[in-house]
Amino acid sequence: MHGTAELRGDLLGRARAVAASAARAFDAVGGHGAAGAPAAALGLLADAGLLGYAVPESLGGASTLGLAPRQDVSVRALSWLRDELAYGDGLLDLMLVMQGLGSYPLARGGERELAREVLPGVVRGTSIAGYCLTEPGAGSSLDEVATRATRAGDGWRLDGHKTFISNAPIAHFFTVLARTAGEPGDRRADALTMFYVPRDTKGLSVEPFEVIAPHPIGEVRFDGVELEDRWRLGPEGSGLELALATLSRFRTTVAAAANGFARRALDESRAHLTRRRQFGRALADNQGLRFDLAEMDTRLRAAQLLVAEAAAAVDSGADAGHQVARAKLFATEVAGWICDRAVQHHGGLGVRRGHIVESLYREVRSLRIYEGASEIQKLILGKLVLAQSGPTPAG
Ligand SMILES: Cc1cc2nc3c(=O)[nH]c(=O)nc-3n(C[C@H](O)[C@H](O)[C@H](O)COP(=O)(O)OP(=O)(O)OC[C@H]3O[C@@H](n4cnc5c(N)ncnc54)[C@H](O)[C@@H]3O)c2cc1C
Repeated sequence: MHGTAELRGDLLGRARAVAASAARAFDAVGGHGAAGAPAAALGLLADAGLLGYAVPESLGGASTLGLAPRQDVSVRALSWLRDELAYGDGLLDLMLVMQGLGSYPLARGGERELAREVLPGVVRGTSIAGYCLTEPGAGSSLDEVATRATRAGDGWRLDGHKTFISNAPIAHFFTVLARTAGEPGDRRADALTMFYVPRDTKGLSVEPFEVIAPHPIGEVRFDGVELEDRWRLGPEGSGLELALATLSRFRTTVAAAANGFARRALDESRAHLTRRRQFGRALADNQGLRFDLAEMDTRLRAAQLLVAEAAAAVDSGADAGHQVARAKLFATEVAGWICDRAVQHHGGLGVRRGHIVESLYREVRSLRIYEGASEIQKLILGKLVLAQSGPTPAG
């Protein structure tokens, strides 16, 4: 393999092959929503060598041929994979990205020895990662984090409650943002620290719940959990920076997944409008519905270009906050609109449980909420636009 185009083609091909074999793998464990489905998805991704793209090359991840520094994950590689996996099956996409999101704070901030112990299992799919920021009182604002780590002997004691934690019911370890100074809401940049917390540590409990689409998720409680000091991820007080650096890598890939869901919805609409006949002609012969396809196509392409721009900017190491916020906001909102139009084009079939566009409609909804809701992206963008001096640059 020589360059970016070849790597992209290779990754898209492998992701497509995984998606093509997913239905049979899920059937074998009792269906797509069965308890064994996430592990089946991980097995497929690991066998295809795709989980390696969730971990930096220097720590045992796959080579991205210089797309990003060896010590980092490539946002372009992850975005290509997420777009294609989401097109095929949302659970595949989720299981890939959670291995990255949950382990990245360890790869970036943890001791090398700990990273080398844990990350090979992430790449093999035998060690499942979870990422714990959100709490009942701390969602969009991480200043409110109340989970507290206090010094105890040579290590730490962790007490608190995290919620909406993807992979909570199945994770083998969590990377957890906790307060090591100050009080919730006091807006200190140095008050939080991240920790690696193995799932089987005494005092850690999990309570699963369900969301709108197939997604292993739940509450995680820490009740006097004893942590070794070597599980601290970076210097004390660096947790907010580490959590935000993690989100800045993975947020663009949420937009890429949105594009995959939207692309599938567009293809489903095109096929259905061509096939389905009413009033003696194909639905696609109605100009109003063609106009819909034109809008879907154009908005999707704009979203794809924004993702490509943001992913390349993050990989280059540039300050890419503006590009990332635009891509996340636009792609996830557009995907919601496209999937809604696809439901409308399918009539009653569009809301019939089990139909592909019905599942896309549900899959795509959470993307506008997690890793910085649309309103939070708008706050970021509004601030950046107001800070600009001189005329807005030409395209
Ligand atoms: C399916 C799913 C998976 C998730 N997985 C994880 C995970 O693995 N790990 C994890 O830590 N978290 C996870 N989350 C949590 C997610 O990150 C939060 O839901 C998100 O940050 C929003 O927080 P909240 O739900 O508390 O909403 P809130 O912060 O209470 O916000 C509610 C609404 O108000 C808006 N809002 C908030 N502040 C402002 C403002 N200043 N101006 C204008 N509007 C505002 C928000 O945009 C939102 O629309 C997940 C959530 C979902 C739905």
